[in-house]
Amino acid sequence: MQKNLNNLYLKSFIRCKRKAWLDYQGNKSDKIWSPHQSIEVINRYKNFYKLTNGDLYFGTKACKKGSSGVIGLKARSKVINNINAEIQPQLLKKVGGNSIWGEYKYIPVVYKLGHRTTKEHLFDLAFCSILLEPFQESKIEKGLVVSNFSNHINIEKIDLNQRLRKKVLNTFLNLNEYLKSSIPDITQDRKKCTICSWQKFCDTEAKDNGYLTDIDGIGAKTAFFLQKNGISNIEELAATRKVDLGEKLFQFKEQNFEKASKFINQAKAYLSGKPIRIFENENLSDLLINKDSGFFIFDIESNPDEKHDFLYGFLKVNNLFENIEDDFYEPILNLKNNSKKSNQEIVKKLFSNKDWPVLHYGETERVSILNLAKQLNLDSKEIETLKSRFIDLHLIVRGSWILPIRNYSLKTVANWIGFKWKQKNVSGSKALYWWIQYKSTLNDLFLKKIIKYNRDDCLATHQIAKWLIKKHKKIN
Ligand code: SF4
Repeated sequence: MQKNLNNLYLKSFIRCKRKAWLDYQGNKSDKIWSPHQSIEVINRYKNFYKLTNGDLYFGTKACKKGSSGVIGLKARSKVINNINAEIQPQLLKKVGGNSIWGEYKYIPVVYKLGHRTTKEHLFDLAFCSILLEPFQESKIEKGLVVSNFSNHINIEKIDLNQRLRKKVLNTFLNLNEYLKSSIPDITQDRKKCTICSWQKFCDTEAKDNGYLTDIDGIGAKTAFFLQKNGISNIEELAATRKVDLGEKLFQFKEQNFEKASKFINQAKAYLSGKPIRIFENENLSDLLINKDSGFFIFDIESNPDEKHDFLYGFLKVNNLFENIEDDFYEPILNLKNNSKKSNQEIVKKLFSNKDWPVLHYGETERVSILNLAKQLNLDSKEIETLKSRFIDLHLIVRGSWILPIRNYSLKTVANWIGFKWKQKNVSGSKALYWWIQYKSTLNDLFLKKIIKYNRDDCLATHQIAKWLIKKHKKIN
């Protein structure tokens, strides 16, 4: 039986044409679970519950009863060109007016996780209202976009005018055509893939075909430019002369030969599986000078929407090459945002060995500790000393090596050098998902999983530091 087209396929289609196609007719066993989506579903429900003061019920029965909020409603109708369509609105909110149910009507509401209201939100609202109007026999002028930052609900009113409705129907017709054709190409904008449940499936195909967007630093625009200039895959990129590519990039206002060399080397490393040493990086010298000292290795877990760093994990080693014992790692939980007690504990920990460098991977850790030091009113001299102790391994790796990998995240780099996380398929998003689960259940099992994950993040950072030093010794 043919499935009805619905607002969910339409949303996917706006994000990536291929995603809509796969959602509609892909093999479900190729899909992976996405913590990002699960976080969105949990947060969405919590916020809708708050928005409707708990008067939130399910389906047509709730509409008839006149509940403040309705979830899980499905409505079908024929839309443009006699095509069967269905809507599954995220939420319907009761407002004043007249409908088949009485002296009230419903308007559609969507939840957004980030700060930006996108075409996906607008089209979802407009499409839902097109099918909801005949269903409730009442006009809909506005829809709502709901978000929550620092525990504060924000409501944005969206005018569902004729122009927007016309655009949505055109996109809907387009979707209908695409779903009848063969599978669309992988999107050029691969950033979209990071939170997509078809990522694994598409990554395999991109790798097999040598897609240019598999090369670190090559986004949709650069890939398009390279293709226009006769370089259509990684093999062709690796075989290009630096000077030729540099000149082409110059016309593209990417006026540096350094970039050309980076792309070509990245393509060569990717094809050969061998790393390429580039420069002697200033940050690497910091690590090498201190290599015989003790170190703190530091990693945090956070909830960016609530600006809450809920776990600070420290690995304390007297020497980078000694065996790691269980008690070298200490997690400091910050269950209540900005708890003075845990902030003091963290600073005390860092000052327990005043001269030791602090190794971390990426900017976040350094920024977070410096903010915390300011909140505790440390004097400027102490803050400057603290600042000078941070060594960012991400900067060192990127500045001194080209590795045969797609990106330089902690996971990708550490996996490449052979480090394995003890828990399967983990990520920062999954740790956040566990944190959200912990907050609603207070089950310590979730905290244990987060701590185990954070410990591995620290150990992975430690492995990268050792790899950098060993590699330097081998070369020099
Ligand atoms: S992984 Fe990327 S290309 Fe594949 S469906 Fe998702 S967004 Fe589209």
